[in-house]
Amino acid sequence: MHDQSRFDVAVLGAGPLGAATARHLADQGASVVVVGPDEPARFDDHQGVWAGYYDQGRLAHVLEVPLVTTLLATRSIRRFDDLSARSGVVFTKPTESLTVLPDTSGRRDEPEWFDRGRLLRNAEDLGVPVESLDEDDLRREYPHLRFAPGHVGLLQRDALILNPRELVRAELTAAVAGGATLVRDEITDLTETSDAVSITSKSGSSWVADYAVLATGAATNAVGLLDRPIPMTTYGATVVLVEVPDPDEVDMPAMMYMRVTGGEGDFGGIVMSPLRYPDGRWYVKVSGSSLLANPLDNTSDIAAWVRTGGRARDIDETRALLGELMPGQTFGEAHTRPCMVCETPTGLPYLDRASERVTVVIEGERGAMAADEIGRLAAEYTLTGRWRDGLPHEVFRFADSSAAVPTSPEIQEALLGS
Ligand SMILES: Cc1cc2nc3c(=O)[nH]c(=O)nc-3n(C[C@H](O)[C@H](O)[C@H](O)COP(=O)(O)OP(=O)(O)OC[C@H]3O[C@@H](n4cnc5c(N)ncnc54)[C@H](O)[C@@H]3O)c2cc1C
Repeated sequence: MHDQSRFDVAVLGAGPLGAATARHLADQGASVVVVGPDEPARFDDHQGVWAGYYDQGRLAHVLEVPLVTTLLATRSIRRFDDLSARSGVVFTKPTESLTVLPDTSGRRDEPEWFDRGRLLRNAEDLGVPVESLDEDDLRREYPHLRFAPGHVGLLQRDALILNPRELVRAELTAAVAGGATLVRDEITDLTETSDAVSITSKSGSSWVADYAVLATGAATNAVGLLDRPIPMTTYGATVVLVEVPDPDEVDMPAMMYMRVTGGEGDFGGIVMSPLRYPDGRWYVKVSGSSLLANPLDNTSDIAAWVRTGGRARDIDETRALLGELMPGQTFGEAHTRPCMVCETPTGLPYLDRASERVTVVIEGERGAMAADEIGRLAAEYTLTGRWRDGLPHEVFRFADSSAAVPTSPEIQEALLGS
Protein backbone atom coordinates (compact mmCIF):
# COMPACT_ATOMS: atom_id res chain seq x y z
CA MET A 1 0.00 0.00 0.00
CA HIS A 2 1.36 3.38 -1.00
CA ASP A 3 2.20 5.98 1.69
CA GLN A 4 -0.28 8.78 0.87
CA SER A 5 2.04 11.48 2.13
CA ARG A 6 4.85 10.71 -0.31
CA PHE A 7 4.65 9.91 -4.02
CA ASP A 8 7.15 8.72 -6.56
CA VAL A 9 6.23 11.61 -8.85
CA ALA A 10 4.18 14.80 -8.55
CA VAL A 11 2.84 16.12 -11.86
CA LEU A 12 2.08 19.83 -11.81
CA GLY A 13 -0.57 20.83 -14.32
CA ALA A 14 -3.45 18.65 -15.53
CA GLY A 15 -3.70 19.77 -19.16
CA PRO A 16 -2.93 17.45 -22.09
CA LEU A 17 0.77 17.01 -21.25
CA GLY A 18 0.34 16.67 -17.48
CA ALA A 19 -2.62 14.31 -17.80
CA ALA A 20 -0.75 12.12 -20.30
CA THR A 21 2.38 12.09 -18.14
CA ALA A 22 0.36 11.09 -15.08
CA ARG A 23 -1.34 8.23 -16.88
CA HIS A 24 1.90 6.85 -18.30
CA LEU A 25 3.52 7.09 -14.87
CA ALA A 26 0.57 5.22 -13.38
CA ASP A 27 0.75 2.66 -16.23
CA GLN A 28 4.39 2.09 -15.35
CA GLY A 29 3.52 1.37 -11.74
CA ALA A 30 4.58 4.65 -10.13
CA SER A 31 2.65 6.35 -7.35
CA VAL A 32 1.55 9.71 -8.77
CA VAL A 33 -0.19 12.84 -7.61
CA VAL A 34 -1.34 15.13 -10.40
CA VAL A 35 -2.36 18.64 -9.34
CA GLY A 36 -4.05 21.19 -11.56
CA PRO A 37 -7.22 23.26 -11.71
CA ASP A 38 -10.23 22.17 -13.71
CA GLU A 39 -11.51 24.48 -16.45
CA PRO A 40 -13.15 27.58 -14.96
CA ALA A 41 -16.82 28.03 -15.85
CA ARG A 42 -16.26 31.56 -17.19
CA PHE A 43 -13.45 33.92 -18.12
CA ASP A 44 -14.81 37.44 -17.63
CA ASP A 45 -14.03 37.48 -13.88
CA HIS A 46 -10.95 35.28 -14.16
CA GLN A 47 -8.11 35.16 -11.63
CA GLY A 48 -5.18 32.74 -11.86
CA VAL A 49 -3.74 30.56 -14.60
CA TRP A 50 -5.39 29.53 -17.87
CA ALA A 51 -4.73 26.77 -20.41
CA GLY A 52 -4.24 26.06 -24.07
CA TYR A 53 -6.70 23.18 -24.23
CA TYR A 54 -10.06 24.74 -23.33
CA ASP A 55 -11.64 24.02 -26.70
CA GLN A 56 -13.59 21.41 -28.68
CA GLY A 57 -11.24 20.79 -31.58
CA ARG A 58 -7.57 20.43 -32.37
CA LEU A 59 -6.08 18.96 -35.51
CA ALA A 60 -4.18 15.69 -35.30
CA HIS A 61 -2.44 15.22 -38.64
CA VAL A 62 0.98 14.94 -40.27
CA LEU A 63 0.95 18.31 -42.00
CA GLU A 64 3.22 20.07 -39.52
CA VAL A 65 6.67 21.42 -40.10
CA PRO A 66 8.92 19.76 -37.53
CA LEU A 67 9.16 16.06 -38.42
CA VAL A 68 9.97 15.35 -34.77
CA THR A 69 6.66 16.76 -33.54
CA THR A 70 4.75 15.00 -36.29
CA LEU A 71 6.41 11.73 -35.30
CA LEU A 72 5.38 12.32 -31.68
CA ALA A 73 1.83 12.96 -32.88
CA THR A 74 1.89 9.79 -35.00
CA ARG A 75 3.01 7.71 -32.03
CA SER A 76 0.25 9.29 -29.93
CA ILE A 77 -2.42 8.68 -32.56
CA ARG A 78 -1.53 4.97 -32.68
CA ARG A 79 -2.58 4.69 -29.02
CA PHE A 80 -5.80 6.71 -29.25
CA ASP A 81 -8.10 3.71 -29.77
CA ASP A 82 -6.61 1.92 -26.79
CA LEU A 83 -6.93 5.04 -24.60
CA SER A 84 -10.56 5.50 -25.65
CA ALA A 85 -11.34 1.85 -24.93
CA ARG A 86 -9.70 2.01 -21.51
CA SER A 87 -11.23 5.29 -20.44
CA GLY A 88 -14.60 5.00 -22.16
CA VAL A 89 -14.03 8.52 -23.56
CA VAL A 90 -14.24 9.09 -27.32
CA PHE A 91 -12.10 12.11 -28.11
CA THR A 92 -11.47 11.97 -31.86
CA LYS A 93 -13.43 12.02 -35.08
CA PRO A 94 -12.18 11.49 -38.62
CA THR A 95 -11.64 14.47 -40.89
CA GLU A 96 -9.94 15.56 -44.06
CA SER A 97 -7.14 17.94 -43.17
CA LEU A 98 -6.21 20.49 -45.81
CA THR A 99 -3.22 22.80 -45.53
CA VAL A 100 -3.30 25.72 -47.95
CA LEU A 101 -0.20 27.78 -48.48
CA PRO A 102 1.35 30.11 -51.04
CA ASP A 103 3.15 28.42 -53.89
CA THR A 104 6.77 29.35 -53.18
CA SER A 105 8.30 26.34 -54.94
CA GLY A 106 11.48 27.08 -56.78
CA ARG A 107 12.38 30.01 -54.55
CA ARG A 108 15.89 29.66 -53.18
CA ASP A 109 14.79 31.30 -49.93
CA GLU A 110 11.60 29.25 -49.64
CA PRO A 111 10.53 29.39 -45.97
CA GLU A 112 10.27 25.95 -44.36
CA TRP A 113 6.67 26.69 -43.41
CA PHE A 114 5.72 26.88 -47.07
CA ASP A 115 7.91 24.03 -48.25
CA ARG A 116 5.39 21.54 -49.64
CA GLY A 117 8.14 19.11 -50.59
CA ARG A 118 9.34 18.92 -47.01
CA LEU A 119 5.82 18.29 -45.67
CA LEU A 120 5.26 15.60 -48.28
CA ARG A 121 8.55 13.88 -47.44
CA ASN A 122 7.67 14.03 -43.71
CA ALA A 123 4.34 12.32 -44.42
CA GLU A 124 6.07 9.75 -46.62
CA ASP A 125 8.60 8.99 -43.85
CA LEU A 126 5.70 8.35 -41.50
CA GLY A 127 3.88 6.19 -44.04
CA VAL A 128 0.86 8.49 -44.20
CA PRO A 129 -0.69 9.21 -47.62
CA VAL A 130 -0.83 12.93 -48.39
CA GLU A 131 -1.83 14.45 -51.73
CA SER A 132 -0.24 17.53 -53.21
CA LEU A 133 -2.79 19.85 -54.85
CA ASP A 134 -1.85 22.59 -57.26
CA GLU A 135 -4.09 25.60 -57.77
CA ASP A 136 -6.30 23.79 -60.32
CA ASP A 137 -6.54 20.67 -58.16
CA LEU A 138 -7.63 22.83 -55.22
CA ARG A 139 -10.38 24.40 -57.32
CA ARG A 140 -11.53 21.00 -58.57
CA GLU A 141 -11.45 19.32 -55.15
CA TYR A 142 -13.19 22.21 -53.35
CA PRO A 143 -15.26 24.03 -55.99
CA HIS A 144 -17.24 25.98 -53.39
CA LEU A 145 -14.14 27.29 -51.56
CA ARG A 146 -12.17 30.31 -52.82
CA PHE A 147 -8.54 30.52 -51.89
CA ALA A 148 -6.32 33.52 -52.58
CA PRO A 149 -4.60 33.34 -56.00
CA GLY A 150 -1.27 31.52 -56.14
CA HIS A 151 -2.10 29.14 -53.30
CA VAL A 152 -1.64 25.38 -53.31
CA GLY A 153 -2.59 22.59 -50.95
CA LEU A 154 -1.69 19.41 -49.16
CA LEU A 155 -4.47 17.01 -48.27
CA GLN A 156 -4.48 14.23 -45.70
CA ARG A 157 -7.75 12.32 -46.03
CA ASP A 158 -7.40 10.24 -42.86
CA ALA A 159 -6.66 12.95 -40.28
CA LEU A 160 -8.45 13.46 -36.97
CA ILE A 161 -10.15 16.24 -35.09
CA LEU A 162 -9.24 15.74 -31.49
CA ASN A 163 -11.32 17.21 -28.68
CA PRO A 164 -8.62 18.36 -26.23
CA ARG A 165 -11.03 18.63 -23.28
CA GLU A 166 -12.07 15.03 -23.87
CA LEU A 167 -8.47 13.92 -24.41
CA VAL A 168 -7.62 15.32 -20.97
CA ARG A 169 -10.66 13.57 -19.49
CA ALA A 170 -9.58 10.28 -21.09
CA GLU A 171 -5.98 10.59 -19.85
CA LEU A 172 -7.06 11.55 -16.32
CA THR A 173 -9.66 8.77 -16.20
CA ALA A 174 -7.00 6.23 -17.19
CA ALA A 175 -4.49 7.77 -14.75
CA VAL A 176 -6.91 7.60 -11.82
CA ALA A 177 -7.99 4.07 -12.78
CA GLY A 178 -4.27 3.20 -12.70
CA GLY A 179 -3.96 4.53 -9.14
CA ALA A 180 -2.99 8.19 -9.65
CA THR A 181 -4.33 10.79 -7.23
CA LEU A 182 -5.93 13.79 -8.96
CA VAL A 183 -6.19 17.05 -7.02
CA ARG A 184 -7.96 20.15 -8.34
CA ASP A 185 -5.72 22.93 -7.06
CA GLU A 186 -3.00 25.32 -8.19
CA ILE A 187 0.61 24.91 -7.09
CA THR A 188 2.16 28.00 -5.52
CA ASP A 189 5.48 26.63 -4.33
CA LEU A 190 7.95 23.99 -5.45
CA THR A 191 10.95 23.30 -3.21
CA GLU A 192 13.68 20.80 -3.94
CA THR A 193 15.92 19.17 -1.35
CA SER A 194 18.66 16.58 -1.77
CA ASP A 195 16.19 13.69 -1.64
CA ALA A 196 12.73 15.05 -2.49
CA VAL A 197 10.54 17.78 -3.92
CA SER A 198 7.77 19.32 -1.92
CA ILE A 199 4.90 21.22 -3.44
CA THR A 200 2.35 23.49 -1.84
CA SER A 201 -0.97 24.58 -3.30
CA LYS A 202 -3.12 27.68 -3.17
CA SER A 203 -5.50 25.98 -0.76
CA GLY A 204 -2.61 25.21 1.60
CA SER A 205 -2.20 21.48 0.90
CA SER A 206 1.24 20.05 0.36
CA TRP A 207 2.76 16.87 -1.03
CA VAL A 208 6.22 15.32 -1.13
CA ALA A 209 7.55 13.29 -4.04
CA ASP A 210 10.83 11.87 -5.28
CA TYR A 211 10.48 13.77 -8.54
CA ALA A 212 8.29 16.44 -10.11
CA VAL A 213 7.17 16.93 -13.70
CA LEU A 214 6.17 20.49 -14.47
CA ALA A 215 3.45 20.52 -17.13
CA THR A 216 2.05 23.99 -16.63
CA GLY A 217 1.97 24.81 -20.35
CA ALA A 218 2.37 28.35 -21.63
CA ALA A 219 2.17 29.65 -18.04
CA THR A 220 5.36 27.82 -17.01
CA ASN A 221 7.62 30.85 -16.56
CA ALA A 222 4.80 33.10 -15.45
CA VAL A 223 3.85 30.95 -12.45
CA GLY A 224 7.39 31.34 -11.09
CA LEU A 225 7.86 27.79 -9.77
CA LEU A 226 11.32 27.42 -11.33
CA ASP A 227 14.45 29.11 -10.00
CA ARG A 228 15.32 30.32 -13.48
CA PRO A 229 12.96 30.99 -16.38
CA ILE A 230 13.39 28.72 -19.37
CA PRO A 231 13.68 30.18 -22.89
CA MET A 232 10.16 30.38 -24.23
CA THR A 233 7.62 33.06 -25.08
CA THR A 234 4.00 33.04 -23.92
CA TYR A 235 1.11 34.57 -25.81
CA GLY A 236 -2.55 35.17 -25.30
CA ALA A 237 -4.20 33.82 -28.44
CA THR A 238 -7.71 34.63 -29.62
CA VAL A 239 -10.14 32.03 -30.88
CA VAL A 240 -13.13 33.27 -32.88
CA LEU A 241 -16.24 31.09 -32.87
CA VAL A 242 -18.68 31.83 -35.69
CA GLU A 243 -22.05 30.17 -35.39
CA VAL A 244 -23.48 28.06 -38.19
CA PRO A 245 -27.14 27.11 -37.98
CA ASP A 246 -26.72 23.77 -39.76
CA PRO A 247 -23.29 22.10 -39.83
CA ASP A 248 -24.32 19.90 -42.77
CA GLU A 249 -24.65 22.98 -44.93
CA VAL A 250 -21.00 23.96 -44.38
CA ASP A 251 -19.05 21.70 -46.68
CA MET A 252 -15.41 22.23 -45.77
CA PRO A 253 -12.43 20.21 -44.54
CA ALA A 254 -10.55 21.14 -41.37
CA MET A 255 -7.94 23.59 -42.58
CA MET A 256 -4.66 25.28 -41.89
CA TYR A 257 -4.56 28.35 -44.07
CA MET A 258 -1.42 30.45 -44.60
CA ARG A 259 -2.73 33.27 -46.71
CA VAL A 260 -0.51 35.73 -48.53
CA THR A 261 -2.31 38.60 -50.22
CA GLY A 262 -0.50 41.09 -52.43
CA GLY A 263 2.85 39.76 -51.21
CA GLU A 264 1.89 40.19 -47.57
CA GLY A 265 1.00 37.45 -45.14
CA ASP A 266 -2.27 38.40 -43.52
CA PHE A 267 -3.54 35.16 -42.00
CA GLY A 268 -1.79 32.06 -40.71
CA GLY A 269 -3.82 29.61 -38.70
CA ILE A 270 -6.72 27.25 -38.35
CA VAL A 271 -10.14 27.35 -39.98
CA MET A 272 -11.89 24.41 -38.35
CA SER A 273 -14.95 22.71 -39.83
CA PRO A 274 -18.09 23.06 -37.66
CA LEU A 275 -17.94 21.56 -34.18
CA ARG A 276 -20.52 21.40 -31.46
CA TYR A 277 -19.64 23.40 -28.35
CA PRO A 278 -20.83 22.91 -24.77
CA ASP A 279 -23.62 25.51 -25.28
CA GLY A 280 -25.13 23.04 -27.79
CA ARG A 281 -24.49 25.29 -30.80
CA TRP A 282 -22.31 24.62 -33.84
CA TYR A 283 -19.39 26.91 -34.64
CA VAL A 284 -16.66 27.28 -37.22
CA LYS A 285 -13.52 28.07 -35.23
CA VAL A 286 -10.89 30.43 -36.60
CA SER A 287 -7.63 31.34 -34.95
CA GLY A 288 -4.70 32.96 -36.64
CA SER A 289 -5.23 36.68 -37.07
CA SER A 290 -3.37 37.52 -33.89
CA LEU A 291 -1.96 34.22 -32.63
CA LEU A 292 1.37 35.68 -31.57
CA ALA A 293 0.39 39.30 -31.09
CA ASN A 294 -0.05 39.39 -27.31
CA PRO A 295 3.04 38.38 -25.35
CA LEU A 296 2.33 37.80 -21.65
CA ASP A 297 4.88 37.81 -18.82
CA ASN A 298 3.25 37.02 -15.52
CA THR A 299 0.11 35.58 -13.97
CA SER A 300 -1.60 38.93 -13.50
CA ASP A 301 -0.97 39.73 -17.19
CA ILE A 302 -2.42 36.32 -18.08
CA ALA A 303 -5.51 36.77 -15.89
CA ALA A 304 -6.09 40.34 -17.14
CA TRP A 305 -5.81 39.19 -20.73
CA VAL A 306 -8.12 36.20 -20.16
CA ARG A 307 -10.74 38.58 -18.71
CA THR A 308 -10.73 40.53 -22.00
CA GLY A 309 -11.96 37.34 -23.70
CA GLY A 310 -9.54 37.80 -26.61
CA ARG A 311 -8.95 40.48 -29.25
CA ALA A 312 -12.31 41.83 -30.43
CA ARG A 313 -10.85 42.97 -33.78
CA ASP A 314 -10.29 39.34 -34.75
CA ILE A 315 -14.05 39.00 -35.28
CA ASP A 316 -14.12 41.41 -38.24
CA GLU A 317 -10.96 39.87 -39.69
CA THR A 318 -12.48 36.42 -39.34
CA ARG A 319 -15.75 37.44 -41.00
CA ALA A 320 -13.80 38.93 -43.90
CA LEU A 321 -11.73 35.74 -44.22
CA LEU A 322 -14.77 33.44 -44.14
CA GLY A 323 -16.67 35.69 -46.56
CA GLU A 324 -13.83 35.41 -49.05
CA LEU A 325 -13.32 31.69 -48.46
CA MET A 326 -16.97 30.65 -48.58
CA PRO A 327 -18.93 33.20 -50.58
CA GLY A 328 -22.63 32.55 -50.32
CA GLN A 329 -22.38 30.77 -46.99
CA THR A 330 -24.48 32.28 -44.19
CA PHE A 331 -22.89 32.66 -40.80
CA GLY A 332 -24.48 33.64 -37.50
CA GLU A 333 -23.21 35.38 -34.38
CA ALA A 334 -19.49 35.44 -33.62
CA HIS A 335 -17.63 35.75 -30.35
CA THR A 336 -14.08 35.42 -29.10
CA ARG A 337 -12.52 33.17 -26.50
CA PRO A 338 -9.10 33.44 -24.86
CA CYS A 339 -6.49 30.73 -25.31
CA MET A 340 -2.85 30.37 -24.26
CA VAL A 341 -0.06 29.43 -26.60
CA CYS A 342 3.72 29.43 -26.30
CA GLU A 343 6.75 28.76 -28.41
CA THR A 344 10.29 27.65 -27.81
CA PRO A 345 13.33 29.05 -29.63
CA THR A 346 14.08 25.55 -30.95
CA GLY A 347 10.62 25.27 -32.49
CA LEU A 348 10.45 21.86 -30.81
CA PRO A 349 8.94 20.56 -27.60
CA TYR A 350 10.93 20.67 -24.39
CA LEU A 351 11.42 17.57 -22.26
CA ASP A 352 14.37 18.45 -20.10
CA ARG A 353 15.48 18.74 -16.50
CA ALA A 354 15.34 22.15 -14.88
CA SER A 355 17.17 20.65 -11.89
CA GLU A 356 18.09 17.27 -10.42
CA ARG A 357 14.51 16.31 -9.55
CA VAL A 358 12.35 18.53 -11.74
CA THR A 359 11.56 17.76 -15.39
CA VAL A 360 9.73 20.27 -17.58
CA VAL A 361 7.52 19.38 -20.56
CA ILE A 362 6.35 22.03 -23.03
CA GLU A 363 4.68 21.88 -26.43
CA GLY A 364 2.79 25.05 -27.14
CA GLU A 365 1.50 24.70 -30.66
CA ARG A 366 0.96 20.98 -31.31
CA GLY A 367 0.55 19.77 -27.78
CA ALA A 368 -2.84 18.18 -28.22
CA MET A 369 -1.85 15.78 -31.00
CA ALA A 370 1.60 15.07 -29.49
CA ALA A 371 0.65 15.02 -25.78
CA ASP A 372 0.30 11.29 -25.25
CA GLU A 373 3.77 10.50 -26.57
CA ILE A 374 5.40 13.43 -24.77
CA GLY A 375 3.75 12.11 -21.60
CA ARG A 376 5.10 8.61 -22.25
CA LEU A 377 8.62 9.92 -22.81
CA ALA A 378 8.42 12.15 -19.71
CA ALA A 379 7.25 9.25 -17.58
CA GLU A 380 10.02 6.95 -18.79
CA TYR A 381 12.71 9.62 -18.40
CA THR A 382 11.55 10.51 -14.90
CA LEU A 383 11.32 6.94 -13.66
CA THR A 384 14.49 5.55 -15.23
CA GLY A 385 16.63 8.70 -15.16
CA ARG A 386 17.74 7.72 -18.66
CA TRP A 387 16.84 8.80 -22.14
CA ARG A 388 15.96 5.62 -23.99
CA ASP A 389 14.23 6.80 -27.14
CA GLY A 390 15.43 6.52 -30.73
CA LEU A 391 15.09 10.29 -31.09
CA PRO A 392 18.13 11.99 -29.55
CA HIS A 393 17.44 13.72 -26.24
CA GLU A 394 19.29 16.79 -27.55
CA VAL A 395 16.25 17.54 -29.68
CA PHE A 396 14.17 18.15 -26.53
CA ARG A 397 16.67 20.15 -24.50
CA PHE A 398 16.04 23.73 -23.43
CA ALA A 399 17.52 26.23 -25.83
CA ASP A 400 20.51 28.16 -24.67
CA SER A 401 18.97 31.09 -22.81
CA SER A 402 21.02 33.48 -24.93
CA ALA A 403 19.32 32.06 -28.01
CA ALA A 404 15.84 33.07 -26.92
CA VAL A 405 14.77 34.16 -30.36
CA PRO A 406 11.32 32.75 -31.05
CA THR A 407 10.86 30.74 -34.19
CA SER A 408 7.23 31.12 -35.04
CA PRO A 409 7.51 34.82 -35.73
CA GLU A 410 9.54 33.38 -38.61
CA ILE A 411 6.17 32.41 -40.03
CA GLN A 412 5.11 35.98 -39.82
CA GLU A 413 8.44 37.25 -41.14
CA ALA A 414 8.28 34.68 -43.88
CA LEU A 415 4.74 35.68 -44.68
CA LEU A 416 5.61 39.33 -44.66
CA GLY A 417 8.70 38.74 -46.74
CA SER A 418 6.97 36.65 -49.39
C1 LIG B 1 -5.83 28.57 -30.91
C2 LIG B 1 -5.02 27.34 -30.71
C3 LIG B 1 -5.05 26.32 -31.65
C4 LIG B 1 -4.32 25.16 -31.46
N1 LIG B 1 -4.39 24.17 -32.38
C5 LIG B 1 -3.76 22.99 -32.16
C6 LIG B 1 -3.92 21.90 -33.04
O1 LIG B 1 -4.63 22.00 -34.05
N2 LIG B 1 -3.31 20.73 -32.73
C7 LIG B 1 -2.55 20.58 -31.61
O2 LIG B 1 -2.03 19.50 -31.37
N3 LIG B 1 -2.36 21.60 -30.76
C8 LIG B 1 -2.94 22.80 -31.00
N4 LIG B 1 -2.80 23.84 -30.11
C9 LIG B 1 -1.85 23.69 -29.00
C10 LIG B 1 -2.36 22.86 -27.83
O3 LIG B 1 -3.64 23.26 -27.41
C11 LIG B 1 -1.34 23.01 -26.70
O4 LIG B 1 -0.08 22.63 -27.21
C12 LIG B 1 -1.70 22.16 -25.49
O5 LIG B 1 -2.88 22.62 -24.90
C13 LIG B 1 -0.56 22.20 -24.50
O6 LIG B 1 -0.88 21.34 -23.43
P1 LIG B 1 -0.21 21.58 -22.00
O7 LIG B 1 -0.74 20.53 -21.11
O8 LIG B 1 1.26 21.69 -22.14
O9 LIG B 1 -0.68 23.05 -21.59
P2 LIG B 1 -2.13 23.61 -21.25
O10 LIG B 1 -3.14 23.13 -22.18
O11 LIG B 1 -1.98 25.08 -21.12
O12 LIG B 1 -2.43 23.00 -19.81
C14 LIG B 1 -1.60 23.38 -18.72
C15 LIG B 1 -2.37 23.17 -17.46
O13 LIG B 1 -1.51 23.54 -16.36
C16 LIG B 1 -2.29 24.22 -15.42
N5 LIG B 1 -1.45 25.03 -14.56
C17 LIG B 1 -0.81 26.18 -14.87
N6 LIG B 1 -0.18 26.65 -13.79
C18 LIG B 1 -0.41 25.76 -12.79
C19 LIG B 1 -0.01 25.70 -11.42
N7 LIG B 1 0.73 26.64 -10.85
N8 LIG B 1 -0.41 24.64 -10.68
C20 LIG B 1 -1.16 23.65 -11.24
N9 LIG B 1 -1.58 23.67 -12.51
C21 LIG B 1 -1.20 24.72 -13.27
C22 LIG B 1 -3.29 25.02 -16.24
O14 LIG B 1 -4.41 25.36 -15.47
C23 LIG B 1 -3.62 24.03 -17.36
O15 LIG B 1 -4.72 23.23 -17.00
C24 LIG B 1 -3.51 25.03 -30.30
C25 LIG B 1 -3.47 26.06 -29.34
C26 LIG B 1 -4.22 27.19 -29.55
C27 LIG B 1 -4.16 28.27 -28.51
